[in-house]
Amino acid sequence: MEVQLISPAATEKSTEALAIRGFLADCKPPELRPFPEWAESEIVMPSGPFEDHQFRLDRLPYSQLLLEELGKWQRHVITGPTQSGKSFHAFVLVIMYYLFERQEDVIVGIPNINMAGDKWLEGIKPVIEMSSYAHLLPQSGQGSKGGTKLTKITFANGRFLRFMSAGGNDKQSAGATARVLIVTETDGMDTVAESSQEGQTKIQQLEGRVRAFGDDAVKFFECNVSTESAFTWDEYQGGTASKIVHQCKACDAWVSPEREHLVGWEDAKDEIEAGELGRFTCPECGVFYSDEDRLEMNQGAMLVHKGQEVTPEGEIVGSLPRTNTLGFRWSAFQDLLYSTSMLSREEWVAANSEEPKVADIARLQQAWAMPAENPNVEKVPLNVEIVRGSDRRYAGRCSGLVMGDVPDNVDILTASIDCSKRELQWSVEDKVNRRIQVVEYGIFQTELPDVVGVETAVERAV
Ligand SMILES: [Zn+2]
Repeated sequence: MEVQLISPAATEKSTEALAIRGFLADCKPPELRPFPEWAESEIVMPSGPFEDHQFRLDRLPYSQLLLEELGKWQRHVITGPTQSGKSFHAFVLVIMYYLFERQEDVIVGIPNINMAGDKWLEGIKPVIEMSSYAHLLPQSGQGSKGGTKLTKITFANGRFLRFMSAGGNDKQSAGATARVLIVTETDGMDTVAESSQEGQTKIQQLEGRVRAFGDDAVKFFECNVSTESAFTWDEYQGGTASKIVHQCKACDAWVSPEREHLVGWEDAKDEIEAGELGRFTCPECGVFYSDEDRLEMNQGAMLVHKGQEVTPEGEIVGSLPRTNTLGFRWSAFQDLLYSTSMLSREEWVAANSEEPKVADIARLQQAWAMPAENPNVEKVPLNVEIVRGSDRRYAGRCSGLVMGDVPDNVDILTASIDCSKRELQWSVEDKVNRRIQVVEYGIFQTELPDVVGVETAVERAV
């Protein structure tokens, strides 16, 4: 028998080493769980068809794809149909993940500070109450009772949630320091803030709140799609413009059926028949899908970013787009809360309503998460932000250079005058790298066109 002799000194040493190791292990921050895993462990549904049930990623398959992406990008722009879980996934869960799992302070951007009470009481608080973090809710002070005047809610883990609106008094946010910004209803803040000296939109002002954190800042924006040129669609397209794709059961192509692929309901004689006849079809081979097919295709869904494709074998090919902004969107095909029959009935009702054009735009935005053409584009009064390109809606159209400046490499300037009875709008433009820059512009009022006649008035003005 072999006897190992251990000196008392050695034993003492190893005990000490173990103690130190134990101490160091205690000091190590707890391992952070990935967002999807965290959500399934901690969240219980507070309302809806799965009330009181544990949150599961496979009920709405887009949620797995979305939660896997959140936090991986510096900016996240997220949109989907109304009532499809957008605010729950992209607003409430994100707030909770950062407050409780990552133990970080969070700034929440809303269009109007008076909305904070509703957002808290109807959106955020019920989910926290049902979760394993209910004990962290404040027992006194802001957020402990009702009340609409909410600005800062401090939780028992020491972390705070600060509500901020943009465009209001800058003082309300002067002391805010957090690297996490989560904004809801962004398209309501897509206008130049009145308080802004630099012509910033309200969203740009909000983004400024986390600028001090540089590349460490992380931002989330969640909204319905409104128009093509408004924040959500513009940023979605300018970001990764990611699409959820599904493998067609018939042709194996990876497809993403949209509104035009819901067919058959148009010729129905009534709403009921529309529901019976409506079917999604494959954008590639035209085969009809049943609701079972739709469910199955959603369960095997994949996410591709702009410029990427999926091979028939299910491999994503192509490099990631060079952007820091995730643009994530789902549409009615992915919204499994709505049956194909229900979608078809609603399409028929809209098309046969008293104001089909208005109803059509509402369907486009609310059910399909697609933008309406901007009906206000031509009505927007000419202003310096638009012409200089600093207005977000016109970003990229002009270069934003100082008025009157012409870049060195320009050979040709084009001047034009747009004549109308009462106004002559003129502009001088150049073109650099196929991009038009407005160098200078202006308006002449014609004089007395009703008296001297239009032609004379225009001639005199020129
Ligand atoms: Zn197909």
